[in-house]
Amino acid sequence: MKLLYLLPCVFLTACSSLKSEPLLAVAEPTVTVIGEEVTTTGRYFEFVPTPSILIFSETRNWRHEEGIAGANLAIMKAAKEMGYGYFTTEHSGIFNETDLARFNVVVFNNMTGDALTPEQEMVFAKWQSKGNGTVLIHGSGDASHQDWDFYHNELLGATFVSHPAAPQFQEARVEVLGPSHPVMAGMPKDFMAIDEWYTFEAPPSDDFIVLAGLDESTYSPLNTVYGDISDLRMGPKTSDHPIIWARCLGDNQARSVYTAMGHRYETYETPEALLILKNTLNWAAKITDPQSVGCAK
Ligand SMILES: [Zn+2]
Repeated sequence: MKLLYLLPCVFLTACSSLKSEPLLAVAEPTVTVIGEEVTTTGRYFEFVPTPSILIFSETRNWRHEEGIAGANLAIMKAAKEMGYGYFTTEHSGIFNETDLARFNVVVFNNMTGDALTPEQEMVFAKWQSKGNGTVLIHGSGDASHQDWDFYHNELLGATFVSHPAAPQFQEARVEVLGPSHPVMAGMPKDFMAIDEWYTFEAPPSDDFIVLAGLDESTYSPLNTVYGDISDLRMGPKTSDHPIIWARCLGDNQARSVYTAMGHRYETYETPEALLILKNTLNWAAKITDPQSVGCAK
């Protein structure tokens, strides 16, 4: 019986302590993701930190389950560290004018297939033309986006052919070809990485700035898996086989970066990939290089 009398007292104490919480605590909700406390943003919260990153990973073609999870977590952790807002979704409905206006950068995290409707593609292009940034990761650069001319030609700029499959994952030397570019700040001149190495029909056009290329002598771009397209060599020089490139578009110098790395979640366990990721987000959001020096070719 004594316990029953005590309960209302405990309840009242809890209520009064809640009343003294600052309102901001309500506006900055946090959730725990794989043991990490992270700040969330979204339409239901009034406070959205700036810059804010939309991480979009809808797949209507090949699904990189591990690459998506790895990049999502790495970007969320980087954003949290830097005090930026972020929001992950696989629903293309977010590509409407009201919601997209909340973000400074859109990351297409292994998006594959025809994910956006023609109207959503137009909304994105309008948002992008205002000077907002875009980041494309690995599968977002495969051959499944050719329905969307603007994306395929102006943001990606190269046509995927294939990747080795025997073995699928190989260690290769990546050479930094744009050492003075903000996306490569702090990087060594080259580094070794394990990934599923993409080959493209040709390097992107001169409209793009090649930031890193692949040394084909350090892995096997030949295999017998794909018949006629088994020879996946692009050329002996690292500049023949670009693997990371960037571009600035339009009067507002909207920035776009593509990296073909990122099939495996383990990519984000390397300091090189994490540094490139942070540099990329900061450059795309114009936090670094506000004078757009990195836009010069
Ligand atoms: Zn892949």
